[in-house]
Amino acid sequence: MKVLFLAAEASPFVKVGGLGDVAGSLPAALAALGHDVRLAIPGYGAIDWPRFRPKPAGTFEVPHAGGVEPGRIWKTESDVPVWLLTGPSIPTDGRIYSASIAEDARKFLFFSLGALAACRALDFRPDVIHANDWHTGPAVYRLAMAARADPFFAETASLYTIHNLPYTGRGAGPYLAQYGLAASPALALLPDWARDSMLGLGIVAADVLTTVSPTYAREIQTPEGGQGLDATLRARGDRLHGVLNGIDVRSWDPATDPALAERFDSTTLERRAANRAALAEEAGLDSDPKAFLLGMVSRLDSQKGFDVALPVLSSWLESGGQLVVLGSGDPAIEIGLASLEIRFPGRASARLRFDPPYSRRIYGGADGILIPSRYEPCGLTQMLAMRYGAVPIARRTGGLADTIVDVGDSGGTGILFDGYDPISLAHALDRAVRVYAHPETWIELQRRGMEKDFSWDRSAAEYEALYREALRYRGASAG
Ligand code: ADP
Repeated sequence: MKVLFLAAEASPFVKVGGLGDVAGSLPAALAALGHDVRLAIPGYGAIDWPRFRPKPAGTFEVPHAGGVEPGRIWKTESDVPVWLLTGPSIPTDGRIYSASIAEDARKFLFFSLGALAACRALDFRPDVIHANDWHTGPAVYRLAMAARADPFFAETASLYTIHNLPYTGRGAGPYLAQYGLAASPALALLPDWARDSMLGLGIVAADVLTTVSPTYAREIQTPEGGQGLDATLRARGDRLHGVLNGIDVRSWDPATDPALAERFDSTTLERRAANRAALAEEAGLDSDPKAFLLGMVSRLDSQKGFDVALPVLSSWLESGGQLVVLGSGDPAIEIGLASLEIRFPGRASARLRFDPPYSRRIYGGADGILIPSRYEPCGLTQMLAMRYGAVPIARRTGGLADTIVDVGDSGGTGILFDGYDPISLAHALDRAVRVYAHPETWIELQRRGMEKDFSWDRSAAEYEALYREALRYRGASAG
């Protein structure tokens, strides 16, 4: 199949969050199954152009109310051929996302519609367009609305993946009209407030919808998890599937990771102690091999559960635990974490920045990794932690529930808790400490986590099956 994969970011070109990881590795896994995959992303100035040496490959035009917006296609490669699209709406300075819907709506409308135009310019006629998140909803909508009149895309199906539902790109109404995306009866499926959201366009128009874990797919169809879009998602429930993200197991391998003091695998777990000691030293913690060294690697955002965690972490440190945190984001959470470090010298450390090599040393050295998320579409942290022998202690929500088996169940790989409250979290930490006191049981937990297959292979095969389903729907609606 010919697949065009659309995303606002993709590693190694430009990465802000988990979407960048997915767009950086899923296309390669699809190509490995024999598909002809092209990845298209905006050609931001933030990309290291000299490093990737993109070559000019063609031009296109995106019509809008003020005339036409000219665009250029630049080709480069990562594991698959990559198109970088540039034009007046794509920032040439360091910016990627902005806080202004005026800027972002134009940027991503131009990108979404430009990607369709680029297919035609390069004569790449995709069987499936796989679009991701609100930035690319307009491509899916345009495809559905214009496909019948346009022989080039008449047989192209769409699959639209929601990575994080609360990000809707709402308020885009005036810009949708400027770029010629007219309202249609399909929008009646959306609540009023979402009819000018770019995510809404993708949700109502896609042949197949996915999100990044089976549990999140169920949660977003409920009033509690649906962010006001649950009724729309229930109405499209027969088209909505949950497909777990994978991780790049080549780059994330404790047996070869140069960031670690000592490399190890599931048969040489005793070597991991050297990483634990090195981590404690790097973080400025007292050497205390008996203490439970708890790690966190996270965006500091209300999604991630710090409001519940901060008071519990104080008690954790008072009762002899240790803590290493890596994260940046919300200043109020940064202050809360910094004050733990000040109050508990030698026991708590907070590094408040983005530091990928240090994250590897936390995964490779901490005893457990705490993930108390309020909600979690999929989550990569828990998979990385398990791969590196750190036991996840996580809230049973979204992808965390789908990737971690509780220690109380057969095949346990971590500790799960249900309530989003300090008591439930404190209880989970108590359970962790009790299991930790039995080294054989603990090592079994670590080993089972390390031996789990979190590679993209299985997910890529699921997407392949859903692409076929999308093509069947497209064929049926065209017929
Ligand atoms: P989200 O996409 O919601 O932030 P995920 O768990 O899906 O959460 O992905 C987070 C990714 O970002 C993981 O790879 C994690 O290791 C990484 N990460 C988060 N914060 C930092 C940080 N401060 N420094 C380095 N890596 C980080």
